[in-house]
Amino acid sequence: MVSRVIPVDPFDLVIFGGTGDLARRKILPGLFRRFKAGQIPEDSRIIGASRSDLSDDDYRRFTKEAIEEFIPEDERRNSPLDKFLDCLHFVTIDATGEAGWQQLSDKMRDNVVNAFYFSVAPSLFGALAERLHTYGIADAKTRIVVEKPFGRDLESARALNATLAEHFKETQIYRIDHYLGKETVQNLMAVRFANVLFEPLWNAQYVDHIQITVAETVGVGGRGAYYDKSGAMRDMVQNHLMQLLCLIAMEPPSRFDPDSVRDEKLKVIRALEPVQPYHIVRGQYDAEGDAPSYRQDAENPRSLTESFIALRVHVSNWRWAGTPFFLRTGKRLKARTSEIAVVFKDAPHSIFGQEAGTHRNILTIRLQPNEGMTLGVTIKEPGPGGMRLIDVPLDMTFADALPQEAEDVHDAYERLIMDVIRGNQTLFMRGDEVEAAWAWTDPIIDGWESRGEAPKPYEPGTAGPEDAMMLMMREGRKWREIKE
Ligand code: NAP
Repeated sequence: MVSRVIPVDPFDLVIFGGTGDLARRKILPGLFRRFKAGQIPEDSRIIGASRSDLSDDDYRRFTKEAIEEFIPEDERRNSPLDKFLDCLHFVTIDATGEAGWQQLSDKMRDNVVNAFYFSVAPSLFGALAERLHTYGIADAKTRIVVEKPFGRDLESARALNATLAEHFKETQIYRIDHYLGKETVQNLMAVRFANVLFEPLWNAQYVDHIQITVAETVGVGGRGAYYDKSGAMRDMVQNHLMQLLCLIAMEPPSRFDPDSVRDEKLKVIRALEPVQPYHIVRGQYDAEGDAPSYRQDAENPRSLTESFIALRVHVSNWRWAGTPFFLRTGKRLKARTSEIAVVFKDAPHSIFGQEAGTHRNILTIRLQPNEGMTLGVTIKEPGPGGMRLIDVPLDMTFADALPQEAEDVHDAYERLIMDVIRGNQTLFMRGDEVEAAWAWTDPIIDGWESRGEAPKPYEPGTAGPEDAMMLMMREGRKWREIKE
């Protein structure tokens, strides 16, 4: 199988915050990979912009170091690194002042797509948007990319949307949720909507429940003070887990185009029922040996912020009436893994008798590590000795099924940045989607804040607080094991 890479037209991409952590770890290495794949024309320009006093050559050195740090050596060998570095430029600019804006304006070309990545704190978005207009840099074709967090509640998200809307149309705004750029997430849509096999079963009649888990082994050390104002609900559920839930639960859009897909996702968010307090479990990791506790990491001995949350959620529509969605995410858990499991109901009648046991089909969609899908099916255990049943996985791990492609598993950021350049908003969140997600999230957070609830402590390296287990066990269901 030959990988098809369709080049885009030459473009100017300005990265505000071009010296920041995200640019270094994701944006610049991602652009290099696309350049190496032949997708970025050599006359494109990538312009870093921040307050740092750097020359073009300094920025090229900075980028080279980032690529050497984040891209394995065998991938860099014989690569056109120098040609890529030639595309790089730097402008010293202050988002909140006037320094550098005229230089940036002079640098931009009229006849190419221009895009501006706002890889800076959200408090600077308004200042950037305004100056892009004041200095005549933005035009009707301009695209802007904004990072999470998109607000911390409905009110702040609305204010952010309004600020951006003063200067840009919705079709120009690309709100990134990098989970949507993952290969498996798009494959989930292909599996659902390009096969007849799954869609007839994709409803409350056949699906017992759905589990979405995003587990991390790291704590919040290093960004504890920031995280403590946010917590797992705001940091992960309101965006990433909710987006995954939407893609699982949405109706088939009439076309795979940005608004058809996003309209269907929005309907799911609006159909989410309020969550009852007894369907929420919040946790905070304890200390373990020399490793600090959450409260130590957050430098807040009385913190009530959750580093873990599990929720039982209902999508209130015909398709999903009676099928619960269980969401959980947390830090310092047993393994680093993100997966969605669609757990189908038992066969209505077992012809094999009780000794054959109960078996369920489970479709597992793994986002990390090892992106791929597995369908658990029940078969006869080989050999003589009667009709014994076992569950075996029908494995669709990309690395095995698509060997050539697997050599080049793309990072979500690569795909999303190229989608910006192509002008395809399908995998980006629309303003109304983000607001609807906060409208559902806010009362949940207000609820535990007004009740003054403290999160339950949990031991690091486990699956979170015991109560999270009970959330499923008390109704005869069970979380899948958290493992890599
Ligand atoms: P960071 O490491 O703190 O970098 C911030 C960048 O903004 C630096 O390049 C800084 O450069 C620049 N900057 C600060 N004030 C400025 C000003 N007044 N004018 C112009 N540039 C200014 O932050 P980050 O981790 O890269 O995050 C950037 C954004 O992405 C944030 O919104 C963050 O929430 C989001 N995000 C980050 C990650 C991640 O993994 N890092 C993941 C998801 C989302 P100078 O100091 O040189 O000006």
